[in-house]
Amino acid sequence: MSDWNRRRWLQSLGLGALGVGSGGLLRADDAKPCPSGPGLQLQDFRPKSALHVKQTFVPKAKFPVIDVHTHLSWTAQNKGGVPVGEKVAAQITAKDALVVMDRKNVRAMVNLTGGTGKGLEENIAAFDKAAPGRFLTCTEPSYGDFLDPKYPQLQADAIEHAAKAGARGLKILKALGLVLRERISEGPLVKVDDKRFDPMWEACAAHKLPVMIHVADPEAFFTPIDCTNERWDELGHHPDWSFYGKDYPSFKEIMEARDRMFARHPKTSFVGLHVGHDAENLEFVGQSLDKFPNMTVEIGARIGELGRQPRTAGRFFDKYQDRILFGTDAVPPPDGENYPQQVFKDELYEIYYRFLETEDEAFDYAPAPVPPQGRWQIYGLGLSDAILKKVYNGNAMRVLGINA
Ligand SMILES: [Zn+2]
Repeated sequence: MSDWNRRRWLQSLGLGALGVGSGGLLRADDAKPCPSGPGLQLQDFRPKSALHVKQTFVPKAKFPVIDVHTHLSWTAQNKGGVPVGEKVAAQITAKDALVVMDRKNVRAMVNLTGGTGKGLEENIAAFDKAAPGRFLTCTEPSYGDFLDPKYPQLQADAIEHAAKAGARGLKILKALGLVLRERISEGPLVKVDDKRFDPMWEACAAHKLPVMIHVADPEAFFTPIDCTNERWDELGHHPDWSFYGKDYPSFKEIMEARDRMFARHPKTSFVGLHVGHDAENLEFVGQSLDKFPNMTVEIGARIGELGRQPRTAGRFFDKYQDRILFGTDAVPPPDGENYPQQVFKDELYEIYYRFLETEDEAFDYAPAPVPPQGRWQIYGLGLSDAILKKVYNGNAMRVLGINA
């Protein structure tokens, strides 16, 4: 990850060495010839479903939507991929985002990577203040100050300043646990439950800022990239997303650290992004929700996991209907084109709405010729109106303190 977020940052400044613009890596496959015969390579295999099943187009959500997981701006990162400093780079204007939002019945978007200090204020002016009620901006930790002995208090003070400036939450990237080190980019990795962050979590509770937290990553990012890895295609395109080996903690160790930290801060509201960081294991996520009343989850970039276990996911949505928030992990183009399951455009929302509202079978979770996260298709949940309303907006309004 260190590298890809930095790349996103560089690209947004027009400095990217990768040179992937609109029509990025995966999309290029579209134009490829279609070979046949016994020597067919996996990368050339693009099967088209022969099923004759219902195809429902859902152009607009049935109820107004609050998308709690978007990246309308990126924060500067150092060479090691740690967010530092106050520089931010907006990826879209409020005006352009609103065009898509109005077409798709998106009432509000939460920009998680809103930055700190001056950068945060810039984002709040460009989005929240430019279109009141339509955008909410979150702040991020100031890891650049991590070496200051007074860091724990400085960070708590930064949360207070951010709240006063209008921030609506705190975003934690997986940098915590997987990228940030004792000397910022060197030394041992800092753990998710490191006590130096305790004043920050408590400040979030005091200022009623929910913590939008993403730790770990898909389970397959913590296992060897071999013929058994279900995300082989995705890791092939982004080998730096793998956290297998080196000095990385195991997936389980990260979850255990997270649990110790959640338990120490019962007054802080934690939104576990990407289905509580473990969409592959809904039993575990359910146990976490049972254990931590201060925890909710969000579904961004994981409909590929939820949608290939529709019966288990349906029961999960039924049981935890008050604890699930709608999110997409949207990234505006051109950068977003490199992550087809996240690119901010009409199709993204149409797929999410189809998944939540219909009982359609075996359809793509992303607009891409090869499913970008793994070679599977998804099945709609056909949620009831009562559950849809909660997931689309009711739960987010409660957690984020949004008035009707
Ligand atoms: Zn995200």
